[in-house]
Amino acid sequence: MKNYSQKPGINTKLLHAVGTDDRYGSRGVPIYQTSAFAHSTAEELEAIFAGKIPGFAYSRIGNPTIEQFEKRMASLEGGISATACSSGSAAVACTLLTILKSGDEIVVPTGLYGGTLDLFRDLEPFGIHAVFVDDFTADNVEAAITPATKTVFAELIGNPKLNVVDVAALSDAAHRNGIPLIIDSTTATPVIAKPGELGADIVIHSSSKYINSNGSAISGVIIDCGNFLWSDEKFGVMGDCLKYKKGAFTARLRGSLWRDIGACLAPMNAYLNINGLETLGVRMERICANAALLAGHLKNHPGVLCVNYPGLTDHPDHLLVQRQFTSGMAGGILTIRVGSKNKAFSVINNLKYALNISNIGDTKTLVVHPASTIFLHSSQSEREAAGVYDDLIRISVGMEDIDDIIADFDRALSAADATTNDTDFE
Ligand SMILES: *Cc1c(COP(=O)(O)O)cnc(C)c1O
Repeated sequence: MKNYSQKPGINTKLLHAVGTDDRYGSRGVPIYQTSAFAHSTAEELEAIFAGKIPGFAYSRIGNPTIEQFEKRMASLEGGISATACSSGSAAVACTLLTILKSGDEIVVPTGLYGGTLDLFRDLEPFGIHAVFVDDFTADNVEAAITPATKTVFAELIGNPKLNVVDVAALSDAAHRNGIPLIIDSTTATPVIAKPGELGADIVIHSSSKYINSNGSAISGVIIDCGNFLWSDEKFGVMGDCLKYKKGAFTARLRGSLWRDIGACLAPMNAYLNINGLETLGVRMERICANAALLAGHLKNHPGVLCVNYPGLTDHPDHLLVQRQFTSGMAGGILTIRVGSKNKAFSVINNLKYALNISNIGDTKTLVVHPASTIFLHSSQSEREAAGVYDDLIRISVGMEDIDDIIADFDRALSAADATTNDTDFE
């Protein structure tokens, strides 16, 4: 029999690791829908501002409902702290701006979320330069690192390229050069892998996706794994915060850019995420199983030219999936190529259950044509480097009965074949 000193499983942890801490015993986490907190004395508010006593002053800086979400995310990823943000994009931006200054470089893969690629372009005028590496192996990454490089950033499962990175090898390469590894784990979630345990120093999520569960709020979160020692030589920009040693990142994040830009999460959205989190384990199990079945089915479908899904044994990163991910889970996202943009549009237009939506990680199955939406602002070569083609459809598989989803795609593919001109297939 399992005893209490043994680690609980992920589903037990999701439900019990952090209590509600409510004096009335409320089953749900109370929503502190307030911008500020009143205190009985000026001395007390002074002590809170100075960080001498715990407490809350202003919801941009801290709020009990948001803190409950942060505690849950830190616990799930095994980090020392978590900081919630208004969006996943805010989480990426705040993480980078906390440690970078003008003249710095970051080494990143080409196959990233389109919004993150847009952010790298936005950072150029501030003197922060992204160096792209196509095949993101530790050797190639190390070759791209220069004295100006301050971090290696990657998505665990690239969205929408669906390449999987080797976290331990990348972490070794980064650490040999005195810099941290940042992993955006949005598409994996802590149910599939914990990048911090594999060697990442900071883990980011767009919690707008699987963590929230059914697309009810935009949000992001940054988890500080607390293992990296920030050197004065490379990270002088972090100033006084360096005295907190392995806690320096969180100290600087919460005490400067994140706070001063005002990238805070809304209490109501923290509450929605807390509710979603309880079912993350069972949802990911079901979603990954559905995705594997749909990928297997479409792979043998005459109307589909190719299927990209990390769970398929012929996927180039399949060994990394086996080594790093929870057994039997390879994520809920796959892409298919159907031969032409016209046919891709026709398939999307003929789907009944799969919704034409530009995000991922919902309880419902979602499809999108990335080339004409998320990658509209990218050049042809940027698109192809990110694994985006004119005939590509991205599918974020949901929790429906898989027979219904398979039938939905079968019907849409036949209807598209009937209406799409043959010359499109060239
Ligand atoms: C959606 C997404 C983001 C951006 O998150 P938002 O919450 O939409 O701002 C960042 N990274 C990945 C991998 C994403 O899928």
